Amino acid sequence: MRPLRLGLLRIAQETNALSPLATTFEDFRRFQWLEGEELLQATSARGEEAPGFLRNAELSGMVRGAREIDPGVQIVPLFSAWAIPGGKLDRTTLQGFREKLEEGLRAAGALDGLLVSMHGSLQAEGEDDPEGLLLEQARTLLGGAPIAATFDLHGQLTARMVRATSILLGYQTNPHRDHFALGRKAGALLVRTLKGEIRPVSAWRSLPMVLGGGTTLDFLAPMRGVFGRMKAMQKQQGVLGASVFTCHLWNDAPDLGWATHVITDGEPDRAEALAQELAERCWEVRHQGPPELPGPEEAIDQARRAVFARRLGTVCISDASDMVGAGAVGESTLLLGPLLEQARDLKVLAPIRDDQALASIWQQAEGSTVQTTVGGRLAPQLSAPLPIEGRLRVKAELPAIGRVAVLDLGHLQLVLTQAPPLAMKPSFYSLLGLSPWRADICVVKSLFPFRLYFLLQNRKTIYAKTRGMTDFDAWKHIPRQGPVHPNVQLETWEAEDQRRRGLAHDG
Ligand SMILES: [Zn+2]
Repeated sequence: MRPLRLGLLRIAQETNALSPLATTFEDFRRFQWLEGEELLQATSARGEEAPGFLRNAELSGMVRGAREIDPGVQIVPLFSAWAIPGGKLDRTTLQGFREKLEEGLRAAGALDGLLVSMHGSLQAEGEDDPEGLLLEQARTLLGGAPIAATFDLHGQLTARMVRATSILLGYQTNPHRDHFALGRKAGALLVRTLKGEIRPVSAWRSLPMVLGGGTTLDFLAPMRGVFGRMKAMQKQQGVLGASVFTCHLWNDAPDLGWATHVITDGEPDRAEALAQELAERCWEVRHQGPPELPGPEEAIDQARRAVFARRLGTVCISDASDMVGAGAVGESTLLLGPLLEQARDLKVLAPIRDDQALASIWQQAEGSTVQTTVGGRLAPQLSAPLPIEGRLRVKAELPAIGRVAVLDLGHLQLVLTQAPPLAMKPSFYSLLGLSPWRADICVVKSLFPFRLYFLLQNRKTIYAKTRGMTDFDAWKHIPRQGPVHPNVQLETWEAEDQRRRGLAHDG
């Protein structure tokens, strides 16, 4: 018998519709662009899928899971394009992806199935659901061969995505730590489907709610209960997958909202009942909004008072209004200003993005004193440029970040970056010779992931709110197609769910 041939593909980016900067191929090339043999290597048992970020993620999980069921499976690498969160794809880039997908699938020859890793909240100029569009295109080109796709649980589920896929799974953890495990499960389910061992059927619900679940962390109430039930379902015989999607707040899809999705082995009614039950559980936690966040002054005060936390490690202040990890530009000065002025008694590590400032000092020698202004350039309506003066400690060119400089401003060490400063790991600082252990405050530009990566060093977490494109209330100004909680008081969700899934009847 000829071996099963499975295509392998990633197109992933989390879109923040409030960002003024379009995402292009350059952004993918900067973070990850792998094709052919390179992609096979990176996702093999000994490979490294996303160096410096994750050793193994969805695609290597998929390869592993597929081979665990059938060691003879042949993996046909298409491409892996991964960009850090940012603005919408421009039209050329979406069109480019469509052409690339078509070329790739034609060149691949006959495939038995396709393994795809996506984020779920990708948006493009003129297209709210590019992932649904690309999956639909792949399904057509594959001549109906099944697709198994994995998504971030902050993805936006659409009818088109559900229709195009046979297996659809979302992360089971928040903060996310199951990239590999999820891929592995998807790979195994696709091969078992192709061998006729299982017959996946799915059901889903689309909820008119964009906020709820408190912090939405999986180990805290109320989401602990929802995640617990979702996992328990999958331990039942015949339940192949259960996922809850809590959407990406700063996405302007007309039907943004939470969703649930369940796959069973040949039991459609059971899938419907379980998807319904999960949806009801989500709806119950809608009134628990995100916590109120302190402003910069109060955040600095809280850090100052956390004497023991600072002595034992560091205090992480997440710049909640300028989270690069959620698609913000990363050049706000609204937290940096107060840190410079009011935290002189504390040792601070902080990043800011400013290509022009970097260019203006790049010819200076390390050790010299430099003067420049930073930030407030790309989104000048949000924050003003900040004049600074200090010693240029280090200049470097780093993969995925580009040019970087460290400026010693006395109590504050400023990491000036060319690309968005995805400050969510201690290595963001330590690679440049700055020790988070010795800092009182480490500024991070991440909502959840830093809590995992900084587990050792971080003794206190503070989210500071200023004003920016990742505010918890910024979404309020984005128009939606139908009523959505919490900007409209809704008692029930079923009618909106029907409309969102395209099942509603007029009159
Ligand atoms: Zn996420």
